Amino acid sequence: MANRIHTFYSVLVFLLILLLWGCSTSEEFSGYSYDPEGVTETTDKETNPHYTRVIGVNDGKIWVSNDFSGARMNDFYQVNDSLYRVTIKPEHNEINNSPWYAFQIWSTEPDTIKLQLDYEHGNHRYLPKLSKDGDNWQSIDSTSFSTDTTEGTATLTLNLKEEPLWVSAQELFTWDKYKPWLDSLAQKSFITPDTVGRSHNNLPIIKLNISETNTDDPRGVMIITGRLHPPEVTGALGTEAFINELASDTELAKKFRDNFEIWAYPFANPDGVQQGHWRYNARGVDLNRDWEHFNQPETRAIRNDLLTLKNDSLRKVYYGIDFHSTDENIFYPINREEETFPDDFTYQWIDSLKQEFPEYPIEVEPFPPNSPITKNWIFHTFGADAVTYEISDNAPRDSMHTVTRESARIIMKQLLEEKKEH
Ligand SMILES: [Zn+2]
Repeated sequence: MANRIHTFYSVLVFLLILLLWGCSTSEEFSGYSYDPEGVTETTDKETNPHYTRVIGVNDGKIWVSNDFSGARMNDFYQVNDSLYRVTIKPEHNEINNSPWYAFQIWSTEPDTIKLQLDYEHGNHRYLPKLSKDGDNWQSIDSTSFSTDTTEGTATLTLNLKEEPLWVSAQELFTWDKYKPWLDSLAQKSFITPDTVGRSHNNLPIIKLNISETNTDDPRGVMIITGRLHPPEVTGALGTEAFINELASDTELAKKFRDNFEIWAYPFANPDGVQQGHWRYNARGVDLNRDWEHFNQPETRAIRNDLLTLKNDSLRKVYYGIDFHSTDENIFYPINREEETFPDDFTYQWIDSLKQEFPEYPIEVEPFPPNSPITKNWIFHTFGADAVTYEISDNAPRDSMHTVTRESARIIMKQLLEEKKEH
């Protein structure tokens, strides 16, 4: 009898496995609507060369340069008496429409010119930002700017002088900006910076451990990742604001750090950022599609570091946030049907945020966790809730800053509540 019951249960278990297997493979992920084909193939690809150039035209009167970090400018021509053209190419021809550009332009004598941005494998997306020093940026005046949606080009009217004018898709946020920020954080006694690996071009994959927990006390862990996609500067500014709030001197932040460790990897694709890429790392791979096969050193370094949390009896992962940018403020939580720990946490804190900023546009779009992205790996590995936190490319920087810091405060409060309950 015992044997027959055993057989019965074996068959039942077998059927159940078959059923679950069927469910999981029926929704196999091959890319989002905006992804190029084959995006989940994350082995090294050949990339287009991008040469450092300083080019003068019109008998050496008008000049451009891409000789700085984060620059992207492939060629420069004079079209006619007053029209000039910059050509922008991506690091790989199969790519999302996220055409990043950054260059300097100047004239040996004062002149007003029209400058066309002409993209290969993409259409104009980012409103040009201008700067005289590479630090202080302003969006171009709407009267000095037009787009041709059929051609996918943009035309700028620029007043040029001898001093270079910086023109960029978004304000530059490269290693030059990360470094002083990370250095100032490292001054705090409760922040330990670390290098968990190296990119293809040997740049450090930085980790910040932020915590004031007592050695033997059980603690929660919050994971933060940022800048997997180079042009997503508002996401980077958001990461900075969010981490600054967690590291602040407020009573709430202090209490949070007494109970939680923050494991943050704010600069996950340094090669892509430094090279002015549209999307990928130095081997033409979308790092937010490599969280299944881990073919790339950047994702591998972060995963290997996080895996040490797996059988840690003192540390329990409560939440993961992956910062990005797109054309609106939108949060991508894990769909409600999935049971996360804490369950539905993202939905709860977003409700609080919306109540505090009823005028601020915030969208929420849940997704099944079937794609090889950061958030889903955190959920599958630790059972924890996680979110992709997207900040609008065009978000006014002041209010974006205010709202992001408030998000951090709400998340800290609600995670402390969750920890008390468990
Ligand atoms: Zn992104």
